Amino acid sequence: MTEFSIGVDLGGTNLRAAAIDRAGKMIAKVSRTTVLTKGPDSVVGDIVAGIRAVQRSVKGHKLVGVGIGSAGFMDMQKGVIRGSPNLPIFEDYPIRDEISRRLGLPVILENDANAAALGEKWMGAGKNYDDLVLLTLGTGIGGGIIVHGRILHGFVGMAAEVGHITVDPSGNPCGCGNNGCLEKHASATAVVCMAKLMGLGEVSAEDVFHLAEQGDEKAHVVWRHMGKHLGVGLAALANIFNCPLYLLSGGLLPAWDYFTPAMFEELKRRSFIFRSTPSRVEKAVLGSEAGLYGAAYLPLQEQA
Ligand SMILES: [Zn+2]
Repeated sequence: MTEFSIGVDLGGTNLRAAAIDRAGKMIAKVSRTTVLTKGPDSVVGDIVAGIRAVQRSVKGHKLVGVGIGSAGFMDMQKGVIRGSPNLPIFEDYPIRDEISRRLGLPVILENDANAAALGEKWMGAGKNYDDLVLLTLGTGIGGGIIVHGRILHGFVGMAAEVGHITVDPSGNPCGCGNNGCLEKHASATAVVCMAKLMGLGEVSAEDVFHLAEQGDEKAHVVWRHMGKHLGVGLAALANIFNCPLYLLSGGLLPAWDYFTPAMFEELKRRSFIFRSTPSRVEKAVLGSEAGLYGAAYLPLQEQA
């Protein structure tokens, strides 16, 4: 009998669950909307129903456990989400234990970016590496760090918040209380703000990408600025971790050619370790499925 697990990606607007076998093959998947206004007990009911729907569609396989990736700072020991702007209703709610109780199955709760990093390590761009860092360039910047094939958690489970590395001590204020966080200077939100300051008006990050394609010099300045700050953040990571691979994912990847020259220049200048070792920065390959693969891999890895 083939063993499989179920990986869940829990977001503020929707919930996805996938059954993935030990060989890394996705055998079933469901997607549902999450209505947070119904309250935590009701949303947990939806999560459990989603997991059961996937489980029912997989016959003749042995379910090992469930892994859940969610945005927010995680308290791993307690199995609770702390400080998640997308999922405020679960603040200090015993989400892991409640889902586990209702399913009668072991459940592992994990930060979504950590899960995505593990997914890329298992079945994506990091397959041949035991050590890597993943940065997700979206509305904010999330991160996951894999050391010796496993997620680096820190003592509570809040390690790898790379979006809050300081890249400019007098930079833009961040919701975390700091100034000049990486995500305030290199995320999609930051690109939109810079574009506005450059006089490009109310545009999306995608618009700024298209403007750069059309040769708009202001748009190029925005991407260079973003790339420079990303390079500062990556240099800090390279100096600490000396990983062979740094992966970038998320909605800003199409602009790769516009932000990476400044990024590499800054990264090489600020990190002797990066420029003198065969380290690479590459695109992640699993896209929004990385979190599902990583979440599913958690129980499989525990019971290898
Ligand atoms: Zn911050």
